[in-house]
Amino acid sequence: MCGIVAYIGEREACPIVLEGIKRLDYRGYDSAGIAVVRDGRLVIRRSVGRISALEEKLDHELEGATLGMAHTRWATHGGVTEPNAHPHTDRSGKLAIVHNGIIENYRALKAFLAQAGLTFESQTDTEILAKLIGYFYEGKLEDAVRKALREVRGTFGIAALHADEPGTIVAARRGSPLIVGIGDGEYVVASDAAAIVQHTSQVIYLSDNEVAIVTRDGFRTTTLDAAPVSKDIEEVEYTLRQLELGGHQHFMAKEIFEQPESLRNCMRGRLDLEAGRVVLGGLTSVSRELIKTKRIILTACGTAWHAGLVGEYLIEQLARVPCETEYASEFRYRNPIIEDGTTVLAISQSGETIDTLAALREGRERGALALGIVNSVGSTIARETDAGVYLHVGPEIGVASTKAFTGQLTVLAMIAAFLGRRRHLSHEECFQYLSGLAAIPDAVEKALQLDSATRQIAAEFVDANNWLYLGRGLQYPVALEGALKLKEISYIHAEGLPAAEMKHGPIALISEDMPVVVLAPRDHWYEKVLGNINEVRSRGGRVIAIASEGDHEIADLAEHVLYVPDVTELLQPLVTVIPLQMLAYHAAVLRGCDVDKPRNLAKAVTVE
Ligand code: GLU
Repeated sequence: MCGIVAYIGEREACPIVLEGIKRLDYRGYDSAGIAVVRDGRLVIRRSVGRISALEEKLDHELEGATLGMAHTRWATHGGVTEPNAHPHTDRSGKLAIVHNGIIENYRALKAFLAQAGLTFESQTDTEILAKLIGYFYEGKLEDAVRKALREVRGTFGIAALHADEPGTIVAARRGSPLIVGIGDGEYVVASDAAAIVQHTSQVIYLSDNEVAIVTRDGFRTTTLDAAPVSKDIEEVEYTLRQLELGGHQHFMAKEIFEQPESLRNCMRGRLDLEAGRVVLGGLTSVSRELIKTKRIILTACGTAWHAGLVGEYLIEQLARVPCETEYASEFRYRNPIIEDGTTVLAISQSGETIDTLAALREGRERGALALGIVNSVGSTIARETDAGVYLHVGPEIGVASTKAFTGQLTVLAMIAAFLGRRRHLSHEECFQYLSGLAAIPDAVEKALQLDSATRQIAAEFVDANNWLYLGRGLQYPVALEGALKLKEISYIHAEGLPAAEMKHGPIALISEDMPVVVLAPRDHWYEKVLGNINEVRSRGGRVIAIASEGDHEIADLAEHVLYVPDVTELLQPLVTVIPLQMLAYHAAVLRGCDVDKPRNLAKAVTVE
């Protein structure tokens, strides 16, 4: 998911690849490493933390090398430690690779290699690939890489070097981007054009399952079966800033638009449709205890708390386990009652949210099974739990959470099915539900087409200083999340409510100046929600409805309708939240707010 930069040419490799990974800094990373080939020997340095920590470890041993590669790791498998940082090597210590992505079948490959007598120094999936390439190595790196990659399931962008082949970089991709920059007698391979543009604007983009063999004299590309592939050389014509943002104006927009992909990554290797079950490796060690749990307490703050409210619903529906969602900051000081068989599940993007961590500790102290759902591998919450599930949605840079929220919903949806299937759901029921989950990324992709419609609505209501968001059942937490997104980045006051609660007070606020966003997909509560829309309309409120495709009835009631694709009812929040994220984003941009760094807010809240 993070950065790869490799160089071959006549110049000193080390400063070039280091400069390259610094250009990819914005993608977020937790450790870094470098490998060069010098005097027929591989020299490797790795370090946890910033690239500057790696630079402190560089010495004369790397000097003079004209072949090298560097990596910034954003851990997915194994904690943030030096042994887990890339590059990883084969048994001989002569072959090294850097890797972005996830090797899904690394456990099976590891068992295979262990049987062949290999041992491992890290907990990563990447090391398994390095060892596998080494296992197949018979004097030609490109052959070994292709052979190994034919055995791999999952995603990869890799660069590989071998001490006995000081004139070659082998690079390959599937699912993780990789580009070869073509200079004058030199080449730069990188996972992102931002690391190439200062050297050359001539590039080739590798496609999935293609391998590039790059030497000082030129490059060739092949398929994994060694069939030659011819590539067009293309011109990169973006500025660095544009490249970092992938054509978007802000990271928040980039991350909103990344969601189909981030959700695919989140589910990768975890849905076993045929068997009608969910495979969550992170929960294996506690699964027996978890299946028997009598009560689940989800604890979180902010957006993650909203994800918890949806999760509570899913877990109760699918697994029939009593479940409640608690604000971590309240739970930790409430002297909570934790009986035997209680599970406390902490949800936090950063894994460092101080209140959530304290709530987890409180639960654990009182004997609860402590689980976590976090995005940052090796974070404090990840380390302090008995077990957990990572989001795998990639680093989130915008302060307002978007892809982490949908990742959290997806993980909770998977945990609900994981438990449900082991408690009472039939194979068929689980199959249906998981097929629905697998279809979500495409539905999100469709919902993203509402971009310009949401911008128009945001423009029409740009002067409104108060918004209401209404939803029932599963859509109530979505209403809360929509309101939170709007207030945190546009500084407009917004409130989310269970639609029926409006009558108990907030209805007094409704007037012609008040935009009211109503979540009204076709679900269990649909008719009731139509009633609430009527109540708002009769008092002059201006309704923006989020509705299911093909619902014409609602168009007569609401002033604006944003149609989202129909998906499995329990999973609708994953789709209905998309237009609300975009609405908040456009409102903030139109009001000239600093979208990625809203005032007074921090990305990881590490103070009480
Ligand atoms: N899955 C690999 C790891 O955890 C690669 C992570 C990355 O893309 O940076 O080490």
